[in-house]
Amino acid sequence: MTSKQDILSLFEKVRRAQRQGQYAPHKPLLLLLALARLQRGEPRLVLYRDIDLQLKELLRSFGPSSAPSSRHYPFWHLRTDADGSLWDLQADAGLLERPPAATPNLGELRDKQVQGGFSAKVDTALRQTPGLIQTVVRSVLASAFPETLHEDIIASVGLDLSQSLYSKEGPAVYDPAVRRRRNPAFRERVLLAYEYRCCVCGFDLKVCHLPAGLEAAHIHWHTNGGPDVETNGLALCALHHKLFDLGAFTIEPTELRVIYSQHAIASRQQDQQTPDSELRHHGVPLKSPQAIHQRPAPEHLSWNLRNVFKGPARPF
Ligand SMILES: [Zn+2]
Repeated sequence: MTSKQDILSLFEKVRRAQRQGQYAPHKPLLLLLALARLQRGEPRLVLYRDIDLQLKELLRSFGPSSAPSSRHYPFWHLRTDADGSLWDLQADAGLLERPPAATPNLGELRDKQVQGGFSAKVDTALRQTPGLIQTVVRSVLASAFPETLHEDIIASVGLDLSQSLYSKEGPAVYDPAVRRRRNPAFRERVLLAYEYRCCVCGFDLKVCHLPAGLEAAHIHWHTNGGPDVETNGLALCALHHKLFDLGAFTIEPTELRVIYSQHAIASRQQDQQTPDSELRHHGVPLKSPQAIHQRPAPEHLSWNLRNVFKGPARPF
């Protein structure tokens, strides 16, 4: 019998391996997709070609623009993670005997009937332990994506977390075990630096004297090692926080101008010239923090540009 903790620690090993390299949303998204299949009672192994399109869509939505072209990597590479005990592959012997680093190309994975899925041990534990799928899903989400994106990702992969949202073990496992501790002062410091207003649109509504719908966003995601310091924070309204985490816009480091992606598209009535359109913010400097030392640091902006922003940028 495999314990809950054993299973969680296998997923944790994938996460730690990933931390050492550059950030990529590929593995967490594939794991969530596989967990959703399992939750629906589908068979342990799936042909790569049957999930190729869904992976492509997920990476288009939740990764930088370059992500979909390497969408097949984790399906192959996960089998060497967690000492080989998390993920199984089945394919022609010739293909499987290749060194693990010799990734087959997309066409080979699609055409050669390569199947993958959780190992039999992990599959059985996930199916038989009540609440374990939900716990693992929360752990994977919390370690890879900012909270602004969790609901959208859950809906996109087709997971159902409803039963365990408020269960006894839900939040307890979700919180201290898998999340890097946040500095509670981060939010206050960032909102104060930007005078309690969204630094993109200026939104500053208060309800009963309290700021409403205003959030402190991490430029370099906290889940990926970004620090809790003002130079890694932006005060954003809930809408701009979501758009920022989706890579719809980023901040260019010299004049701190808001740069929208060519993938962020509004209807003709909402183009750049329209006074109330979203794209009117494109090219406009963000509302600066109060002090120079609170300005966003170039290294954090550059992480965001490389890892989150959906390039190319719109021209001016
Ligand atoms: Zn805003």
